[in-house]
Order: sequence, then structure tokens, then C-alpha cells
Amino acid sequence: MKLITCIFLFTLIFAAAVVNSQVIDHKYPQNRSFTVDEVTEAYRLLQKKHPKLCALQEIGISDIGRPIHLFVISEDGNFNADAARKKGKLVLFVNNGIHAGEPPGVDASVKFAEDVLSQQKYKKLLDDVVICIIPFYNVDGGLNRSCCSRTNQNGPEEYGFRGNAQNRDLNRDFIKTDTRNTEAFVAAFQGWLPDVFIDTHDTNGSDFQYVMTLITSQLDKQNRYLADYQRKSYLPKLYEDMKKRNFEMIPYVNFRGNSPESGIVDFMETPRYSTGYSTLFGSLGFVTETLKYKAFPKRVEATYAFLLSSLELMSSEKSAIKTARKKALDDISSKQVFEIAWQLDTANLDSIEFKGYETEYRDSEFGIGAKQLTYNQEKPYTKTIPYYKRFIPSITVQKPSAYIIPQSWQEVIKRLKMNNVVLSRLERDTMISVEMYYIENYETVKTPYEGHYQHYNVSVRKTYMPVKFHKGDYIAETNQIANRYLVETLEPQGTDSYFAWNFFDGILQQKEWFSPFSFEPMALDLLKNNSFIKEAFERKKQEDPEFAKDHWGQLYFIYKMSPYYENTHNRYPVGRVP
Ligand SMILES: [Zn+2]
Repeated sequence: MKLITCIFLFTLIFAAAVVNSQVIDHKYPQNRSFTVDEVTEAYRLLQKKHPKLCALQEIGISDIGRPIHLFVISEDGNFNADAARKKGKLVLFVNNGIHAGEPPGVDASVKFAEDVLSQQKYKKLLDDVVICIIPFYNVDGGLNRSCCSRTNQNGPEEYGFRGNAQNRDLNRDFIKTDTRNTEAFVAAFQGWLPDVFIDTHDTNGSDFQYVMTLITSQLDKQNRYLADYQRKSYLPKLYEDMKKRNFEMIPYVNFRGNSPESGIVDFMETPRYSTGYSTLFGSLGFVTETLKYKAFPKRVEATYAFLLSSLELMSSEKSAIKTARKKALDDISSKQVFEIAWQLDTANLDSIEFKGYETEYRDSEFGIGAKQLTYNQEKPYTKTIPYYKRFIPSITVQKPSAYIIPQSWQEVIKRLKMNNVVLSRLERDTMISVEMYYIENYETVKTPYEGHYQHYNVSVRKTYMPVKFHKGDYIAETNQIANRYLVETLEPQGTDSYFAWNFFDGILQQKEWFSPFSFEPMALDLLKNNSFIKEAFERKKQEDPEFAKDHWGQLYFIYKMSPYYENTHNRYPVGRVP
């Protein structure tokens, strides 16, 4: 009996060891990427091997009901955010496979986790940092695997698809949260509120010498204390260290004109994007973008180097990061004026050294006289090119002391709760004098974008007026860590506001009208008895010749100034308590 037990145990251990070496070691650095099931199994095995140091947790499900995992590494065996905070540790949060066709981070993170857990020189970094890794975020896209959806990508031989099961781009879904994937992410992110957040990707568009390009939370949009610290200290050290590791980086090559030589423009990642979202809550956010024309193993290595570099930097910069983060979160909780839309400052031009390839225009082989731009890898160069990295706020708002959100807008309330907004509720029906916005103008995209007809160029008129709110309506005071999230989503002019994402479209439709035959006598009475309406009407007739002969238009003009017109039409329903 004992012998049988021994043989059974040995077989189990041996089998685990074989799977372990196969699953964790075999693909690095070959041209194959983990499937969703393989990567989950790899982390399971790491958990088995180091049960006191790591845990694989489920944080929610994807749109097809498959679990989304979070792998937590913590040296004291406490795998929750409260314990990490109590011990004053920093949190590094890594997201992989949001675009499932861009998998270097999926593979690099397994090796990163394995090395940190098993090598003494890295283990000591865990005294300072707790690591959270989402192994494969876009599970649905990961299951939709093929050879070819990313044209010209230099490996791996098979990879997932960009969209999730609803064909949503999860890296546009952080604010609107149309997917269960995002619900899972937001819950995990809000639980941990990481100090450093990394989202791993591949990129394309142009060809150059670098394997790794980097999006940093746009520094003019980033909280001023974090931006200051990043400019002076964190970023120079990160770039320098990656150079030492033979992966010199360049900011994300988002170029103006036809090629990088015409200049790089910083990527403005509004809150729909991962680092735009993490910036709302005062994280240092990074998107690694390895160039898809480089061989897959090189891209994995570069991403691995970036993760290790970030971990080491967090450990050595622990107190500076904590100080900057504390200042940023205090600032978010107390500042009065928030920027909610940005534009590129084209007058403020910088330059950057760039290692590219000479570009050439060749005759297109289509034989129609077209010219085709090509990058000549035989002719590498180092040139100084323009770098547009300054943005200026185009819309700023003074925060109210609180927002009142009627409970009827349930989808918005649901998202505020997901994002840990501290809310209270009105105890009884109450008439409150508040600032209300009327939507004066807006434009709407003509074709659906990420499942929405997004609004933009929104202009508003602010009116101070008494409004009846109901028992149970929600109050969000603006003295909290979620302030920036609140302002950017609840101010209708915000680029990624809930108004822009169609959550309040109901207010844009007029519900009651009039019949001209019965309204005309009333309109004439109004003109006779109300000098304010009369003056506005006469002025409009003088200014607008079309109006001067438009019978229906004139009636509607008077109707809109009369008490018969509904004052909730185009009235944005969230109240601002001054
Ligand atoms: Zn991507």
C-alpha cells in the first residue's frame, strides 16, 4: 500500500515537473505564445511551487463567461491590498493580452514571475513591492486564435484577436465599461490602486531600429506632482536602465505626416484607454509597445526587461514614489479646477534623437503610377527629429462641492459604484438650488464607434435653478480620491464623459409639442403681453431673413420661450451643488 502511494506521489510530482518545464520553459524564447489555458496552467504551477509567495485569483469573468485571473506575488503570503498597504508596500500592476494579438507581455510575464519567485537576487525586491499580473485579460480574443489577423506581424506563429467576444476593443472600454472584462478589471484595479501600472502591447505603423517604444501617461495631463517626479527622476532612470539592458527605448512613435522624420507626437490617452484610466486615480501608467516587425522572441525579451527594470526601479525609488503619490492623491482630493479636454500645443516644439531607417519612395508595383514609401533597413540612421510633447487644456471646470445624480440614471450610478466613488443618498424628496447645464450644441459621429454614437464638440449653458430631486438620489461629494474620475465623467464636455458616451441621450429628445392651429392665438397673446419674448422675437426676425418668413419656425421660437415648453429638454440631469 505504501509502495503504491509512493509510486502514485512520485508519478504526480514527476508529471507536474514535466508539465512545469514544458509549460513554463519551452516557449521562451521561441516563436510560440501561450494559449489562454496554457498561461493559466503556468501560473497554477508557479502557485504550486511557491504556495507561500503567490496566489492565482479569479477577478471576474469575460463576456463568454470564462474566468479572468490575477496572479499576486507577495513575500509575506498576504495576497490582498489591505495587507500590502498596511506594510507600506508599493503595488506593481501588469495587464497582458488586452489586445490578444499582441502577446509579448503574456509570455514575458510568466518568465518574470518565475524568475522573481525563484531567484534570490529578485526575491528581496518583494520586501518593497507586491506584484499583480493579469495573465491574459482579453480571454475571449485569446480563444479566437489564428495565424494572420495582424498583417505582417513577425510572429508568434499563432495569436488571438484584438476584439473581445462583443467585438469591443477593451482598450477603449475603461470608462464606458460595456464588457464584463472591464468590470473585472475595474474591480481588481480599484482594490489594489496600484502605484505603477503597465499595459503590454505590440505596435506597427512605421519601421525603425527600436524594439520597445513607450507610452507614458501624457505628462501635461498627468497629475502635476507625478509628472514632475517622472520628468526629473523616474523616466530618465527607466530609459537609462533599459538602454543598459540593450533595449534602448523611444516614446511611442505616433508620427505626424508620412514618416517619423516629420516628428513624433505624444499620445493623448484619454480615460477610455488603460493609462488614461489609471491616471485618473494617480498611478504612474505605462503602455509598452514593442514593434511588430521585430522577431517575437525579441519582443518578449524587451517586455521582460521592462518588467524587471520597473520592479527594480520601484524598489530603489520606493520612498520617492510614495511621496509623489501621496502628494498627487491629496491634490486630486483637494484641488478646485480640473482640466477635462486637451489639445496639442503645436507652438511648443521639442526635439529628440531618433534611430530610424532611411525612407525611400519607390514606384508601386501596382503599375498605376503610384509611389510607395518604404523603410530601408540597410540604411539605419540617427537623426534629431521634432517631438511634440506638450498639450494645453482646452476646457477647464471649477469642481462643484458635490454632484447630485438622480437614481434614474442607473447605468451611470452602477459605474460610479464600480469605481469606488463614495456616495450618499437623499433622505427625502428635496428641492435644491443647483447649477444645471443645458446642452446647447454637440456633434455626433456618423458611424458606430465601439458600440456607441459618440458625441463631441459639446457646448453647454450653465443655469442656477431649483430642481426637485427624489428620496434615494445620489450625492457624490468632491473631496475624494475619485474626484478626477467624477469630474471627467460627469462634466458633459469631458472627452470621455458619460454624456459623450451616450449614457444621457434620453435628455436630447423633446417629448411634447404643439399644434400650430391651436397655438397661434396663444403665441400672439404671448407677444402682446410679454415684452421679453417680443423683443427677442423682433431681434431674431431682423437678424435672420429666413426666420422672418418661416411661420412654423416663428411659432416654435415663441413656444420655446413660453411656459409650455418642457424645461428638461436638453437639460443635463446631474446637478452641481456650488
Ligand atoms: Zn495594442
